[in-house]
Amino acid sequence: MIFASDLDRTLIYSEKFLESFLGQVKAAETGQYHSYMTETAAELLKYIAGKLLFVPCTTRTIEQYRRVDFFQTILKPEYAITSNGANLIRGGVVDTGYRDMLNRLLSHQCAAGHDILKEFDRLAGDEWAQPMRKADEVFYYCIIEREKIPTKELAAFCNWAREQYWEVSIQGRKLYLVPQLINKRTALTRVTEMTGKHNVIAAGDSLLDLPLLQGADYAFIPAHGELYEQLEYIPDNWLLTESSGLPAGEEILQAVIKVVKSQK
Ligand SMILES: [Mg+2]
Repeated sequence: MIFASDLDRTLIYSEKFLESFLGQVKAAETGQYHSYMTETAAELLKYIAGKLLFVPCTTRTIEQYRRVDFFQTILKPEYAITSNGANLIRGGVVDTGYRDMLNRLLSHQCAAGHDILKEFDRLAGDEWAQPMRKADEVFYYCIIEREKIPTKELAAFCNWAREQYWEVSIQGRKLYLVPQLINKRTALTRVTEMTGKHNVIAAGDSLLDLPLLQGADYAFIPAHGELYEQLEYIPDNWLLTESSGLPAGEEILQAVIKVVKSQK
Protein backbone atom coordinates (compact mmCIF):
# COMPACT_ATOMS: atom_id res chain seq x y z
CA MET A 1 0.00 0.00 0.00
CA ILE A 2 1.08 3.57 -0.72
CA PHE A 3 0.49 6.72 1.32
CA ALA A 4 0.73 9.57 -1.22
CA SER A 5 0.43 12.91 0.48
CA ASP A 6 0.69 16.57 -0.31
CA LEU A 7 3.03 18.40 2.07
CA ASP A 8 2.27 22.09 2.66
CA ARG A 9 -0.94 22.69 4.59
CA THR A 10 -1.62 18.95 4.65
CA LEU A 11 1.31 17.44 6.58
CA ILE A 12 3.58 20.44 7.19
CA TYR A 13 2.60 23.99 8.10
CA SER A 14 4.25 27.39 7.91
CA GLU A 15 5.01 29.59 10.91
CA LYS A 16 1.70 31.40 10.49
CA PHE A 17 -0.18 28.28 11.67
CA LEU A 18 1.72 28.22 14.98
CA GLU A 19 -0.25 31.24 16.19
CA SER A 20 -3.35 29.12 16.72
CA PHE A 21 -1.57 26.02 18.08
CA LEU A 22 -0.25 25.74 21.61
CA GLY A 23 1.01 22.12 21.67
CA GLN A 24 4.49 20.72 21.01
CA VAL A 25 5.77 21.03 17.45
CA LYS A 26 8.59 19.54 15.44
CA ALA A 27 10.37 21.72 12.86
CA ALA A 28 10.28 19.83 9.55
CA GLU A 29 12.03 22.58 7.59
CA THR A 30 14.69 24.80 9.09
CA GLY A 31 16.96 27.39 7.52
CA GLN A 32 15.64 30.40 5.62
CA TYR A 33 12.05 29.13 5.73
CA HIS A 34 10.35 27.13 8.44
CA SER A 35 7.56 24.59 8.50
CA TYR A 36 6.22 22.42 11.25
CA MET A 37 4.26 19.34 12.23
CA THR A 38 2.90 18.52 15.65
CA GLU A 39 5.39 16.41 17.56
CA THR A 40 2.90 13.52 17.53
CA ALA A 41 2.40 13.88 13.77
CA ALA A 42 6.15 13.53 13.20
CA GLU A 43 6.15 10.27 15.19
CA LEU A 44 3.04 8.97 13.42
CA LEU A 45 4.56 9.69 10.01
CA LYS A 46 7.71 7.78 10.96
CA TYR A 47 5.53 4.83 11.99
CA ILE A 48 3.53 4.98 8.73
CA ALA A 49 6.68 5.20 6.60
CA GLY A 50 7.83 1.98 8.24
CA LYS A 51 4.56 0.18 7.41
CA LEU A 52 3.86 1.30 3.84
CA LEU A 53 5.42 3.23 0.98
CA PHE A 54 5.20 6.93 1.87
CA VAL A 55 5.43 9.14 -1.22
CA PRO A 56 5.55 12.91 -0.63
CA CYS A 57 3.59 14.61 -3.46
CA THR A 58 4.26 18.32 -3.50
CA THR A 59 3.89 21.35 -5.73
CA ARG A 60 7.24 22.53 -4.38
CA THR A 61 10.08 22.60 -6.89
CA ILE A 62 12.87 20.04 -6.43
CA GLU A 63 14.96 22.70 -4.70
CA GLN A 64 12.12 23.71 -2.37
CA TYR A 65 11.41 20.05 -1.55
CA ARG A 66 15.05 19.46 -0.64
CA ARG A 67 14.83 22.26 1.91
CA VAL A 68 12.53 20.10 4.08
CA ASP A 69 15.16 18.54 6.34
CA PHE A 70 12.73 16.00 7.78
CA PHE A 71 12.57 14.23 4.39
CA GLN A 72 16.30 14.52 3.76
CA THR A 73 17.71 13.34 7.07
CA ILE A 74 15.03 11.50 9.04
CA LEU A 75 12.53 9.77 6.72
CA LYS A 76 14.36 9.79 3.37
CA PRO A 77 11.45 8.52 1.22
CA GLU A 78 12.60 6.37 -1.71
CA TYR A 79 10.17 8.12 -4.06
CA ALA A 80 9.10 11.77 -4.04
CA ILE A 81 6.88 13.65 -6.46
CA THR A 82 7.72 17.35 -6.80
CA SER A 83 6.80 20.27 -9.06
CA ASN A 84 3.14 19.19 -8.89
CA GLY A 85 3.99 15.93 -10.68
CA ALA A 86 6.44 17.27 -13.27
CA ASN A 87 9.31 15.55 -11.50
CA LEU A 88 9.68 12.14 -9.92
CA ILE A 89 12.68 11.59 -7.67
CA ARG A 90 13.81 8.07 -6.91
CA GLY A 91 16.62 7.46 -4.45
CA GLY A 92 17.54 11.14 -4.69
CA VAL A 93 17.83 11.05 -8.51
CA VAL A 94 15.37 12.68 -10.93
CA ASP A 95 13.63 10.18 -13.25
CA THR A 96 14.51 11.74 -16.61
CA GLY A 97 12.58 9.12 -18.60
CA TYR A 98 9.36 10.20 -16.94
CA ARG A 99 10.10 13.89 -17.52
CA ASP A 100 10.93 13.29 -21.21
CA MET A 101 7.60 11.50 -21.65
CA LEU A 102 5.73 14.45 -20.11
CA ASN A 103 7.56 16.94 -22.32
CA ARG A 104 6.60 14.95 -25.41
CA LEU A 105 2.92 14.84 -24.45
CA LEU A 106 2.66 18.39 -23.18
CA SER A 107 2.71 20.24 -26.48
CA HIS A 108 -0.04 17.94 -27.83
CA GLN A 109 -2.36 17.98 -24.84
CA CYS A 110 -2.27 21.48 -23.32
CA ALA A 111 -2.09 25.04 -24.69
CA ALA A 112 1.34 26.69 -24.75
CA GLY A 113 2.40 28.52 -21.59
CA HIS A 114 2.92 31.87 -23.32
CA ASP A 115 -0.70 31.87 -24.54
CA ILE A 116 -1.96 31.29 -20.99
CA LEU A 117 0.32 34.01 -19.60
CA LYS A 118 -0.79 36.49 -22.27
CA GLU A 119 -4.44 36.00 -21.27
CA PHE A 120 -3.61 36.16 -17.55
CA ASP A 121 -1.72 39.45 -18.07
CA ARG A 122 -4.93 41.03 -19.37
CA LEU A 123 -6.54 40.78 -15.93
CA ALA A 124 -3.50 40.79 -13.63
CA GLY A 125 -2.88 44.25 -12.20
CA ASP A 126 0.12 45.41 -10.17
CA GLU A 127 -2.17 46.05 -7.21
CA TRP A 128 -2.96 42.35 -6.70
CA ALA A 129 -0.47 40.18 -8.63
CA GLN A 130 3.32 40.24 -8.63
CA PRO A 131 5.13 39.13 -11.82
CA MET A 132 4.76 35.44 -12.79
CA ARG A 133 7.69 33.11 -12.16
CA LYS A 134 8.34 29.85 -14.00
CA ALA A 135 8.85 26.80 -11.80
CA ASP A 136 10.96 23.82 -12.86
CA GLU A 137 10.50 24.84 -16.52
CA VAL A 138 6.91 23.70 -16.57
CA PHE A 139 4.36 25.78 -14.65
CA TYR A 140 3.93 29.31 -13.31
CA TYR A 141 3.12 30.99 -10.05
CA CYS A 142 2.93 34.48 -8.59
CA ILE A 143 2.40 36.12 -5.22
CA ILE A 144 -1.02 37.73 -4.86
CA GLU A 145 -3.04 40.00 -2.57
CA ARG A 146 -6.16 37.89 -2.15
CA GLU A 147 -8.43 40.69 -0.96
CA LYS A 148 -7.77 42.69 -4.11
CA ILE A 149 -8.46 39.95 -6.66
CA PRO A 150 -11.09 40.90 -9.29
CA THR A 151 -13.19 37.81 -8.43
CA LYS A 152 -15.50 37.76 -11.44
CA GLU A 153 -12.77 38.29 -14.00
CA LEU A 154 -10.58 35.64 -12.39
CA ALA A 155 -13.47 33.12 -12.39
CA ALA A 156 -13.94 33.74 -16.12
CA PHE A 157 -10.21 33.27 -16.67
CA CYS A 158 -10.27 29.97 -14.71
CA ASN A 159 -13.05 28.66 -16.97
CA TRP A 160 -11.15 29.73 -20.08
CA ALA A 161 -7.91 28.18 -18.79
CA ARG A 162 -9.67 24.85 -18.15
CA GLU A 163 -10.79 24.81 -21.78
CA GLN A 164 -7.09 25.13 -22.69
CA TYR A 165 -6.30 22.18 -20.34
CA TRP A 166 -4.67 24.34 -17.70
CA GLU A 167 -5.58 24.51 -14.00
CA VAL A 168 -5.62 27.61 -11.78
CA SER A 169 -5.06 27.13 -8.06
CA ILE A 170 -4.83 29.61 -5.18
CA GLN A 171 -3.02 28.47 -2.05
CA GLY A 172 -2.37 31.06 0.62
CA ARG A 173 -0.63 33.97 -1.10
CA LYS A 174 0.28 32.04 -4.26
CA LEU A 175 -1.61 31.66 -7.50
CA TYR A 176 -0.55 28.75 -9.72
CA LEU A 177 -1.07 28.15 -13.44
CA VAL A 178 -0.42 24.48 -14.22
CA PRO A 179 -0.96 22.38 -17.39
CA GLN A 180 -3.49 19.65 -16.52
CA LEU A 181 -1.14 16.95 -17.78
CA ILE A 182 1.26 17.92 -15.00
CA ASN A 183 -0.40 16.45 -11.94
CA LYS A 184 0.49 14.33 -8.96
CA ARG A 185 -1.68 11.42 -10.09
CA THR A 186 0.22 10.96 -13.38
CA ALA A 187 3.48 10.80 -11.43
CA LEU A 188 2.02 8.44 -8.84
CA THR A 189 0.83 6.11 -11.60
CA ARG A 190 4.48 5.84 -12.64
CA VAL A 191 5.35 4.92 -9.03
CA THR A 192 2.62 2.25 -8.88
CA GLU A 193 3.92 0.74 -12.14
CA MET A 194 7.50 0.72 -10.85
CA THR A 195 6.65 -0.78 -7.45
CA GLY A 196 3.64 -2.97 -8.24
CA LYS A 197 1.85 -1.36 -5.29
CA HIS A 198 -1.60 -0.27 -6.43
CA ASN A 199 -3.60 0.50 -3.27
CA VAL A 200 -3.36 4.18 -2.47
CA ILE A 201 -4.25 6.35 0.51
CA ALA A 202 -3.97 10.01 -0.49
CA ALA A 203 -4.18 13.35 1.31
CA GLY A 204 -4.26 16.93 0.10
CA ASP A 205 -5.78 20.37 0.61
CA SER A 206 -5.79 22.11 -2.79
CA LEU A 207 -7.46 21.85 -6.18
CA LEU A 208 -4.10 20.67 -7.53
CA ASP A 209 -4.44 17.60 -5.29
CA LEU A 210 -7.81 16.67 -6.74
CA PRO A 211 -6.60 14.23 -9.45
CA LEU A 212 -4.49 12.42 -6.82
CA LEU A 213 -7.40 12.17 -4.39
CA GLN A 214 -9.83 11.06 -7.09
CA GLY A 215 -7.53 8.19 -8.08
CA ALA A 216 -7.02 6.93 -4.53
CA ASP A 217 -8.76 4.16 -2.59
CA TYR A 218 -9.00 6.44 0.47
CA ALA A 219 -8.64 10.22 0.53
CA PHE A 220 -8.19 12.60 3.46
CA ILE A 221 -8.76 16.34 3.29
CA PRO A 222 -7.98 18.86 6.04
CA ALA A 223 -10.81 21.16 7.13
CA HIS A 224 -9.13 24.24 5.69
CA GLY A 225 -7.88 25.51 2.36
CA GLU A 226 -8.99 25.73 -1.22
CA LEU A 227 -10.39 22.25 -1.62
CA TYR A 228 -12.36 22.27 1.63
CA GLU A 229 -13.88 25.62 0.70
CA GLN A 230 -14.95 24.46 -2.74
CA LEU A 231 -16.05 20.86 -2.16
CA GLU A 232 -19.64 20.32 -3.18
CA TYR A 233 -19.73 16.56 -3.00
CA ILE A 234 -17.80 14.15 -0.79
CA PRO A 235 -17.45 10.57 -2.08
CA ASP A 236 -17.88 7.73 0.45
CA ASN A 237 -14.17 6.90 0.54
CA TRP A 238 -13.17 10.50 1.39
CA LEU A 239 -12.83 11.89 4.88
CA LEU A 240 -12.70 15.51 5.99
CA THR A 241 -10.84 16.15 9.23
CA GLU A 242 -12.68 17.65 12.19
CA SER A 243 -9.77 19.90 13.10
CA SER A 244 -8.19 22.58 10.95
CA GLY A 245 -4.68 24.02 10.90
CA LEU A 246 -1.72 22.08 12.31
CA PRO A 247 -3.76 19.43 14.22
CA ALA A 248 -5.46 18.43 10.93
CA GLY A 249 -2.13 16.97 9.76
CA GLU A 250 -2.01 14.79 12.87
CA GLU A 251 -5.65 13.76 12.42
CA ILE A 252 -4.95 12.67 8.84
CA LEU A 253 -2.06 10.49 9.98
CA GLN A 254 -4.23 8.91 12.71
CA ALA A 255 -6.80 8.11 10.02
CA VAL A 256 -4.12 6.57 7.78
CA ILE A 257 -3.03 4.28 10.62
CA LYS A 258 -6.64 3.24 11.15
CA VAL A 259 -6.88 2.19 7.50
CA VAL A 260 -3.57 0.31 7.68
CA LYS A 261 -4.72 -1.58 10.79
CA SER A 262 -8.10 -2.38 9.26
CA GLN A 263 -6.40 -4.07 6.29
CA LYS A 264 -4.90 -6.81 8.46
MG1 LIG B 1 -1.04 21.82 0.01
